[in-house]
Amino acid sequence: MMHRMKTRWQLSCAILCTALSLGCALPGKGERDPDKQRLRTADADPGWLTHGRTYAEQRFSPLREIHEGNVQELGLAWSFDLGTTRGVEATPLVVDGTLYVTGPWSVVYALDAATGALRWRFDPEVPRSHARVTCCGVVNRGVAYHRGRVFVGTLDGRLIAIDAATGESVWSAQTTDPAEPYAITGAPRVVEGLVVIGNGGAEFGVRGYVSAYRAADGSRAWRTYTVPRDPSLSQESEALLRAESTWSGEFWKLGGGGTAWDSMAYDPELRLLYVGTGNGSPHTRWIRSPGGGDNLYLSSILALRPETGELVWHFQTTPADTWDYTSTQHMILAELEIEGRARKVLMQAPKNGFFYVLDRETGEFLSGAPYIAVSWATGLDANGRPIESQAHNFRDEGRMVNPGPFGGHNWQPMSFHPGTGLVYLPTHEIASFYKVDPDFAVRHRALNTGLDYSMYVHYDGNEEASVEAHLVAWDPLRQRAAWRVPHRAAYSGGTLATAGNLVFQGSSDGRLVAYRATDGEKLWELPVGTGIMAAPITYQLGGDQYVAIAAGWGSGFALSAGPAALEAGVQGAGRMLAFKLGASEAMPPAPPPLPAPPGAPLPVTASAEDLERGSALFTRVCMVCHGPAAIAGGSIKDLRWASAESHQVFDEIVLGGARESLGMPSFSDLLSAEDVRLIQQYILSRAAAAARSGVSSEHP
Ligand code: CA
Repeated sequence: MMHRMKTRWQLSCAILCTALSLGCALPGKGERDPDKQRLRTADADPGWLTHGRTYAEQRFSPLREIHEGNVQELGLAWSFDLGTTRGVEATPLVVDGTLYVTGPWSVVYALDAATGALRWRFDPEVPRSHARVTCCGVVNRGVAYHRGRVFVGTLDGRLIAIDAATGESVWSAQTTDPAEPYAITGAPRVVEGLVVIGNGGAEFGVRGYVSAYRAADGSRAWRTYTVPRDPSLSQESEALLRAESTWSGEFWKLGGGGTAWDSMAYDPELRLLYVGTGNGSPHTRWIRSPGGGDNLYLSSILALRPETGELVWHFQTTPADTWDYTSTQHMILAELEIEGRARKVLMQAPKNGFFYVLDRETGEFLSGAPYIAVSWATGLDANGRPIESQAHNFRDEGRMVNPGPFGGHNWQPMSFHPGTGLVYLPTHEIASFYKVDPDFAVRHRALNTGLDYSMYVHYDGNEEASVEAHLVAWDPLRQRAAWRVPHRAAYSGGTLATAGNLVFQGSSDGRLVAYRATDGEKLWELPVGTGIMAAPITYQLGGDQYVAIAAGWGSGFALSAGPAALEAGVQGAGRMLAFKLGASEAMPPAPPPLPAPPGAPLPVTASAEDLERGSALFTRVCMVCHGPAAIAGGSIKDLRWASAESHQVFDEIVLGGARESLGMPSFSDLLSAEDVRLIQQYILSRAAAAARSGVSSEHP
């Protein structure tokens, strides 16, 4: 079987082509509108106009002033302090010399892309109580740009159009029911004059959907739900009616899930908008859909008509998901020659551990293979359907399964280099213990996964995290790794590929690194004083090529992975950094490590039995943000270091909401005063244990 890459290498790497492709861009529908044309020809722009640089989301730049021969001369040109430790996941945009980046709480910054000087800052003033219904940090992955406006989705579900010149709000649309636990963390995309936005919340209990709003005035053009509603009501579309029979039980009472919280891509020639959907709500299928069924359209890639949101085709990567294996991961559109035939493909490495190549015109499965050592499935059948491993089925008994809910690859964007034909993606193998919660009951505005997390109760803070992590260069034709670079810690950043034969990636342990794209040799690295999860971008301005990254540690991993997150050894200082050849600005210093753990500031008076009850409550309610066994992962304050003053007002904080402005809302609807006393005693016992065992203090 001969696989051959259609070689457009010379074309794609020559800067000349930048000018050429501008001249050659084929006009299609709506091309008379110069603003629509601008996004379609984003490849020729010296900036970075849309989330994945172009509609194809390849995150490949034809710029090559910085190349494998001179990347050693790269230095810091400027930095901008985002003033946060709450997790930075944004891909910045660069439009006409201004860089637009988002930080936690959906705050938007407009910076001079040459100097880092602040032009404006837009704070949507997200109510801090909304932190309670975000599984994975109060993060934001970036903005969209169109016709002089910047669009941001806010954590509390608004879509806001901002004047790109002044930073003033132009319109705002509430895209979710504020009473329901939805949250937006993903970047909008603009297609055909519509701003498309999804949302998250499937850990808490919601029904997923994606919506499109007219860029001009914020009016809603369409909304497409990803899972059916109560079958006694008529479904909103034929596609949902077809999905209905793949569900059983009273799934709609639990939300169903399938939230489209991150990835999209667009093919203007095929007029198909691709949207990735997430896990079920609750996670465990035996609770969600007890009679079985594939539960369409969970964990799927959906191809939609951009004008109407109508479903054209779907491909479900994980039928009947029960592991939180979302298909919301980055999708890349490319042209590959497969068995002598030019194919328009869509590539994705969803959480489930398999790399997929699909025909993006029809959704046909072309090939797939595991990109990590998966244990939940033994392979894919001829149609790309996973063959589940019965030995790892956890319906009746808890099982260790790889990957766990962090996936083999999460939201961190990949990149595709048309010259090397390789996809560069950050992978990790963080196996997890899955067990069905035998006492599951839906609780409003609480974590409703249907999983039992009690095994985490007995962490003592000195666990060796068993984690493998790599930067992988994946050959999508041969479906195997061309090369891998091991990482010290998991959850490193997304990637950028450039025509200079380079791949850039930030690491969770605090370095920005350049690798040779062809063989993975490390050519340059610089410590940046904070962990990196987001993906770098590159742009040309004033004759210089810049590489820029929104750095900062945080996310669901830093919040709830405890010891695995501490392997990174970083804290979460958020900062925007830009590099160019010959620059030598000083890197802002890393935050100093905390002093040794002081021990319990108040006495532990509870009985062993009460501490068990406290630990169970903590694990059920607090762990998702404060970490297993109260071990924080470097983003928010580790409760074992909490002061006597904080403990003296503990119930005012947990029940009264005294620290809501810091993102710690009240839990008075879920916890009683006695519950809070037990949780506090448990935290004090953890503080005492940390002091006794001399836990490393290289984290807050
Ligand atoms: Ca999830």
